[in-house]
Amino acid sequence: MSQFALTTKQIDDLTALLRQREATLRLLVKRELHADSASHASLTGGSDADWATADADADDQIARAERDVRELNATVAALTKISDGRYGLCDECGEAIGYPRLLAYPGASRCLTCQQKHESRTGNSDHH
Ligand SMILES: [Zn+2]
Repeated sequence: MSQFALTTKQIDDLTALLRQREATLRLLVKRELHADSASHASLTGGSDADWATADADADDQIARAERDVRELNATVAALTKISDGRYGLCDECGEAIGYPRLLAYPGASRCLTCQQKHESRTGNSDHH
């Protein structure tokens, strides 16, 4: 059983960071999804040619929204882990992720070693 590697003060700091990040991401995602649905409405009403011209922009928008939604989910999951007392441990190997890494990526669910393995497996991306 790995011991909890973070102090109460560190948990408090990370909780504040996560809450702040969560609020920011919720705003971003809301804006991105709104922009997406607006362009989607015009696309579904338009022809195939409209699709082609708007495609690059829409792809970009969707990619950004997907990335932010993923980060939002990770942020919310991290806050849940804090309340469960499971925060700061790697999802894969169970070792402590480490405060410096959490400070840089409060939503991190893997230690650096497992993250690097994960990224080499998935080609540096969560989707294909
Ligand atoms: Zn790990």
